[in-house]
Amino acid sequence: MARNGNSGAPELMVLMRSTASSDEVDHIVGLIQESGAGAHVDQSGEATVIGVIGQRAQIAALPFESLPGVERVVPLRKGFKWVSREYLDRDTVIDICGRKVGGRHFAMMAGPCAVESYEQTLQAAKDVKAAGGTLLRGGAFKPRSSPYAFQGLGVRGLEILSAVGQETGLPVATELMDARDLEPVLEHIDLIWIGARNMANFNLLSELGRVRKPVMLKRGMSATVEELLMAAEYVAKEGNEDIILCERGIRTFERSTRFTLDLSAVPVLKRETHLPVLVDPSHGTGKNFMVTPLARAGVAVGADGLIVEVHDQPEHALSDGAQALTLDQYEQLVTEVRTIHEVISPVSV
Ligand code: PEP
Ligand code: MN
Repeated sequence: MARNGNSGAPELMVLMRSTASSDEVDHIVGLIQESGAGAHVDQSGEATVIGVIGQRAQIAALPFESLPGVERVVPLRKGFKWVSREYLDRDTVIDICGRKVGGRHFAMMAGPCAVESYEQTLQAAKDVKAAGGTLLRGGAFKPRSSPYAFQGLGVRGLEILSAVGQETGLPVATELMDARDLEPVLEHIDLIWIGARNMANFNLLSELGRVRKPVMLKRGMSATVEELLMAAEYVAKEGNEDIILCERGIRTFERSTRFTLDLSAVPVLKRETHLPVLVDPSHGTGKNFMVTPLARAGVAVGADGLIVEVHDQPEHALSDGAQALTLDQYEQLVTEVRTIHEVISPVSV
């Protein structure tokens, strides 16, 4: 759905008949524009959808229902518009350097919590690739609870990721915490993620809406599903609709896990939005022995992919060693997850 940044959002959806001609579509777009409203045409689904952007009162006066080619007119009532399935009822497929995510394309993103060195990142990337992973993750800017803990290698970490990505052929993903780091991140990275702690950093979200790079939004640890969708709307509103959502656990009273992985969010999200949804069983549990069981569950509940932390020597990891999988464990996870995915969504992984 190519469009330039737009200051508004569709308030009304005109669903055309599947037999509608392009002249009929053009006629309606012309009427909308004459009225001073904006039109957004989407032809990615079976029938053309025209989103009408403008004040509700102004739009309501237009006689869409009686125009040739129109199937029905639906007011969009939810706060999130561009990302809603109410508006676009199809699966968004995002292309990250040739690796597709969404629809029936399952993403296997994995790698270390943090980029610690070239050697460690290369080893993790080779392991991830050999096991069947499709994307490499690694934090260069780390949001740590303690200001004294390892904060990541910064721009050097981005350079390492980029070099390792080139060497292994895996697209690379990293977290952006600060808009001031956007330029080097854009230069070196294929998928930018916003971490849980910044999910509601609305200026940062808007900034990412104006770049041409896929974005993954991790759910804030105290954010509702609707707040996650509204965060995605901030990005989409500016024109970037290559957005992946990620459930990574929320804060509850339960202390036996680091967070409570809210797997019920997955079917809710799949119902509400056309964007792909990933599950992070690593941060969601914080414990090595729980990562594989929750990964299996994430796939079974309908996720479009997983993001998993893998380290060649978890006992020496500079962050999140307790939840990192070894290569052998990750290989086993991929095998199991593929089997489950094929059962519930037969075609490609
Ligand atoms: C991460 O994926 O490296 C991370 C810090 O996750 P979250 O933002 O979900 O805590
Ligand atoms: Mn981590």
